[in-house]
Amino acid sequence: MKVASVVVDVPAMQTDRLFDYLIPPEWNQVIVPGMRVIVPFGPRKVQGFVMEVSSSTEIDKLKEIHTVLDLSPVLTSELLQLGNWLTEKTLSYKISALQVMLPAAMRAKYQKEIKLLKREAVGELEPAVAKWFETNDVVAWEDVEKRNQLSAFQKGIQSGFLEVIYKVKDRANKKTVRHVEPVLTKLELTEFLENLPSQAIKQKEIIDYFIENPSSIEIKQLINQIDCTEASIKTLVKKGVIKQVNVESYRDPFDHREFKPTKPLPLTNEQTKVITPILQSIKDVAHDVFLLFGVTGSGKTEVYMQAIEEVLNKGKEAIVLVPEISLTPQMVNRFKGRFGSKVAVLHSGLGTGEKYDEWRKIHRKEVSLVVGARSAIFAPFENLGIIIIDEEHETSYKQEENPRYHARDVAIYRGEYHQCPVVLGSATPTLESFARTSKNVYKLLTLEERVGNRPLPSVEIVDMREELKSGNRSMFSTSLFEKLNDRLERKEQSVLLLNRRGYSSFVMCRDCGFVMNCPHCEISLTYHRSSQSLKCHYCAHEIPMLKTCPECDSEHIRFFGTGTQKVEEELTKILPEARVIRMDVDTTSRKGAHERLLNDFGEGKADILLGTQMIAKGLDFPYVTLVGVLAADTILHLADFRSSEKTFQLLTQVSGRAGRHELPGEVVVQTYTPEHYSIQLASHHDYRSFYKNEMMIRRQHAYPPFYYLALLTISHPEVLKVVEVAEKITTHLRHSLSEQTIILGPVASPIPRINDRYRYQCMIKYKQEPDLTNLLKQILIRYQKEISANGLNLSFDLNPYILM
Ligand code: ADP
Ligand code: ZN
Ligand code: ZN
Repeated sequence: MKVASVVVDVPAMQTDRLFDYLIPPEWNQVIVPGMRVIVPFGPRKVQGFVMEVSSSTEIDKLKEIHTVLDLSPVLTSELLQLGNWLTEKTLSYKISALQVMLPAAMRAKYQKEIKLLKREAVGELEPAVAKWFETNDVVAWEDVEKRNQLSAFQKGIQSGFLEVIYKVKDRANKKTVRHVEPVLTKLELTEFLENLPSQAIKQKEIIDYFIENPSSIEIKQLINQIDCTEASIKTLVKKGVIKQVNVESYRDPFDHREFKPTKPLPLTNEQTKVITPILQSIKDVAHDVFLLFGVTGSGKTEVYMQAIEEVLNKGKEAIVLVPEISLTPQMVNRFKGRFGSKVAVLHSGLGTGEKYDEWRKIHRKEVSLVVGARSAIFAPFENLGIIIIDEEHETSYKQEENPRYHARDVAIYRGEYHQCPVVLGSATPTLESFARTSKNVYKLLTLEERVGNRPLPSVEIVDMREELKSGNRSMFSTSLFEKLNDRLERKEQSVLLLNRRGYSSFVMCRDCGFVMNCPHCEISLTYHRSSQSLKCHYCAHEIPMLKTCPECDSEHIRFFGTGTQKVEEELTKILPEARVIRMDVDTTSRKGAHERLLNDFGEGKADILLGTQMIAKGLDFPYVTLVGVLAADTILHLADFRSSEKTFQLLTQVSGRAGRHELPGEVVVQTYTPEHYSIQLASHHDYRSFYKNEMMIRRQHAYPPFYYLALLTISHPEVLKVVEVAEKITTHLRHSLSEQTIILGPVASPIPRINDRYRYQCMIKYKQEPDLTNLLKQILIRYQKEISANGLNLSFDLNPYILM
């Protein structure tokens, strides 16, 4: 007897365990851990993953596995282990942790159908129901439901004439292309050719072709090559001279575009210095985590590529993660240009089928390098030689739904497993990572200079309060306007960044720039329209909405914000001759739009690129000599302890877009708080001072990297229920956790209601709580009934980045 222990695709507390199934004898040799199977589960059939295969079980009556979906495992034993680890670390269901590692196409689609059991019984059914079965025995449940006829069918089901069947469909369909190949030998073909009537010119040409080239060719290609029609090919197929075969192919997201091949550049001294220890790690087959801290334009990517080359030369594989937003054609071109067809690319712009094909190239070891966004960290390589995370400070590396994993943690897990280096690169590393270098957990490598000693751009900070005083009510300062105008005359390009995130949530004085902060938490208070008040979302401190500024008595105190569209309108008013490309969620929602707009800008079809955060990263255009930041403050006052860090990062990144080539760059930062250290220090490109300053504040307020965080969010349609559960859980935590641990709340979440559900949260700040995940799991189990029965939702985020 052979038994498979299976994780089933039923994401719920009660089913979050292994279920044993009997392996039918014919598959005894076939089924191994890591394969997808279909198993009966209650009345249904569901997809599952085989975790273990053994020869015994404690269950008496085992059901059999229904179908095997894979002939080779889709999850390696490493990834199965990683799945367990993810489940543990992120408190997610086992099934979610396994599914997140595979492309969406490999998740089953479930279908319900209603089947007529006996044709003779049609007469026994109600006429309205019988009509459905006139020509077929099976109808889709969905269609019946859509026409509101389920109740009519119910009788038929109860009397045993009809049956509900559950189907599982694998969505992973492979693309095939049609080829033709000769059936006859060369000699037979020649003979056939001689007997063809003389007017069959095209058929003759086709036969000629196959006499010369006796292998298979894509029909489309053959038609192109000898300018024949499909009809002539079909005729020959009918005559049995050639035959059609379907050949599996990959969808090519690049449409067979050619990439210009590049060669490794001779490294600069600084680059040589930083690559040496990485190469040493590769040579020693040792796991180290390196933080490559290099200013924008210092040639980090070249270092990555040469380290990767070393890995590939050793016959090993590499993963490069880049943030979704900077997975631009420019970035992809650089890797495709260097490594050609060895590269698979994975990002959210690809269709489900395209993603599946790229994944299969990795699975079949047809490529040895993947460049991709967050989920590419799960690439099923078995011989990893290096993992690189570019722009390691990007928050998009954290998945904000279950399983709430951070790609950096997964990278380090895999790096340990494969004993290979992990390289984290950034011009503005997270405080967490930089702090780890000072404790030697990560090894620090620095690139202080731009390649070719190009200067970093000069940054001018414009105080918008002064602009207002001098009568300029426009959103463009005099200086920025003049510089934009100047670029237009010189035919150079400008990038304008409008930071829209979090607008209107904080309140600011337009005259003096004053922003109301919470006295206990050093974060800005959030404006609540409904109650006309300002609230702190960490500690629940609340005051009525201000009528005048407490600092200068001005009445110009209001919540803050403008959109890109409005900026564009104003821009066309003040610079009517400027050609503007606007990039925001509205203009980039269509597939390929993002790429097209950037291409247009790169080809000089516009003078100004105006956009949100999405333009801040990874772009490298030689004619961009001016970068303007319209409202540097908008994230600064978000209700988030990372807001200064995010401001510093954004200003540094966007400044890095200017002057990357021969022409020197300039940056104008417009702000109402010019004295803020994150703005001041970003303008001097002074990361280290920023780090020191910010670390002091983090220590003072007990935030990461001094403390770990866990955010518990409790939601329910009834506010009383939420408060009750939130309070119970918080009390329970206070009793169970150590004394050094700080527990904030419960308070209403910054977004207190979503989809008619009230939300409360509780934040845990801790240094050491080895039992925390266990404790949280116990809480989940305790509330299990209410979670499944009355709509209670508990979401636990260990190491949260979004505090809403
Ligand atoms: P980063 O990733 O640190 O922002 P890049 O890798 O984009 O920097 O490098 C900036 C520019 O310098 C690019 O145009 C790149 O081609 C060029 N570059 C990098 N390394 C070298 C080198 N060793 N010699 C000459 N040019 C280089
Ligand atoms: Zn004021
Ligand atoms: Zn507070």
